[in-house]
Amino acid sequence: MKSMKRWMFVFPHPDDESFACAGTLARCRDAGHETCLVCVTSGCKGRPGPFPINCREELARHREQELARAADVLGIGKLELLRYPDGGLSAVEPEELAERICQLIVDWKPNVVVTFPPDGVTGHPDHIAASNATVAAVERAEQQLQNGEYPSLYFVSIPHYYDHCPDKGPRPAVPITGKVDITLYREQKAEALRAHQSQEYSVNRAYPGVMNGDSSVIGCYEYYTLVRERGRAVTPVSPEKEIPLIHL
Ligand SMILES: [Zn+2]
Repeated sequence: MKSMKRWMFVFPHPDDESFACAGTLARCRDAGHETCLVCVTSGCKGRPGPFPINCREELARHREQELARAADVLGIGKLELLRYPDGGLSAVEPEELAERICQLIVDWKPNVVVTFPPDGVTGHPDHIAASNATVAAVERAEQQLQNGEYPSLYFVSIPHYYDHCPDKGPRPAVPITGKVDITLYREQKAEALRAHQSQEYSVNRAYPGVMNGDSSVIGCYEYYTLVRERGRAVTPVSPEKEIPLIHL
């Protein structure tokens, strides 16, 4: 029997988890693993979508509710809202952000930590700041954890993100080294994306049709890069043939 693992996902905005990792999150739950999502901002700078919201506090509350619904769909066991300013993460002292995330790692002791790669997938400054802070947090946590408690660190990539968006993304900063088969969890991913109704504009761009109930655009894999394991950096190398499966 496989042992239970703890997976911690760190993302800057409510909805990043659904775009990047929803299938993996749902599969983790089915595999008996515990999941924790750390959402660094409340997304108060996003678009309000169909909702008549023009106050940042109200939008933050609304997006937190949407995130709670997505978390429900995906069986996320623990939701940590850090409530830093949306769009302003790069102005937060990197040490402070890293320390906040580090303490969550030291307290919860995840086996796996997942965040965006250093290019943030989309190049969004909050995505880049969250990635940098999480890498620093894992390294910092290793100073406080016992040998054997060190989490593996993965970056999640969304190589198909720009398939439908007209604009160009940054080149992949790191090669993808593994993928999770989410074939059985595509519907749950679609449902989690739909929970972020205020973000219909972004969902429609990356996953056209999903908001209207057609999830055929959602692929069967989510993609990762292992960059740290057992307290040491791993140099990611592109696989020669097919990208190997990550078994949960
Ligand atoms: Zn985001």
